Amino acid sequence: AKKQGRSRVALHDEAIQNAYLKKIKLRDKLKAALRAGRLQVHYQPVVCTCTGKISKFEALIRWFDDEFGAISPAYFIPIAEEFGLIHLIGQYVLETSCRDLAMLHQAGFKHISCSINRSINEFKTSNNQVELIPAEIERFGLPYDAITIEVTESMAANKYTWQVLEALSELGVQIALDDFCTGYSSLSNLIENQVDFVKIDKSFVDSMGVDHNKQVMVKCLIDLSSQLGIKVIAEGVEQPEQQQMLSDFGCHLMQGYIYSPARPILECLEMLKQHEHV
Ligand code: C2E
Ligand code: CA
Ligand code: CA
Ligand code: CA
Repeated sequence: AKKQGRSRVALHDEAIQNAYLKKIKLRDKLKAALRAGRLQVHYQPVVCTCTGKISKFEALIRWFDDEFGAISPAYFIPIAEEFGLIHLIGQYVLETSCRDLAMLHQAGFKHISCSINRSINEFKTSNNQVELIPAEIERFGLPYDAITIEVTESMAANKYTWQVLEALSELGVQIALDDFCTGYSSLSNLIENQVDFVKIDKSFVDSMGVDHNKQVMVKCLIDLSSQLGIKVIAEGVEQPEQQQMLSDFGCHLMQGYIYSPARPILECLEMLKQHEHV
């Protein structure tokens, strides 16, 4: 038994080491990809429930590696955070989004805005988002409210983060509370902090049809947000039944594969042009 125990420990160590080596390899590949400008930004439309028209886009980072294929941001963003690369990714997404959005505005779609995601580490005191974000917006001649910053609720717990967000909000930059209803959701985050959008997480949208209590909660959240002047975006809408229910509840905006996944900017421009002709 003792012998077996020891080999199990060895196996366990080996598994940890392999996972670590894979992470290191990915870190190096990510560094190289960033340096070579091989990361891309795709955009997922967010559609207005009432008009059925595209209101904004969410910028989502994309990485295609020759060896590993498409690597999900859900996997590499945490690695980027761990190894101090998240600022580079954030800056790249910010710059690319502002440039691409300016192009859409020049093409006549001035009402379109764009959301970018921000991770907790990007709001550490050393990183000056209060200056970096407005600087890029100004560089591309966009109005401040054309950009929305999406932060998760776990970030809302951090005081400094809210100071930064408040300063951005005063300029007119929009703030969205991402992945709401997951983790330690707190209504005080909605009431105390001045966010412009709240995003209902896909897991909640999915459970709506099967869990009556969750359905009630979604409806109440939409009612509460509406009364507070906050717009609700439902995420990951895939089924017509979900779309119908959310619409009945008065959900302002929807995003999901039922409309479109994230696409390259030129395809988004085509989507907008087609919408205008309907
Ligand atoms: P998120 O911010 O919650 O983004 C929504 C995710 O749901 C995206 O996954 C999107 O492609 C996916 N999605 C949208 N509609 C549907 C649907 O109808 N069905 C399904 N199954 N999925 C849908 P993605 O692009 O893989 O991104 C995963 C997460 O990675 C994001 O979650 C966000 O937390 C993070 N992320 C992505 N891009 C960035 C970035 O530029 N910066 C930072 N900090 N994080 C990012
Ligand atoms: Ca998001
Ligand atoms: Ca989300
Ligand atoms: Ca999410």
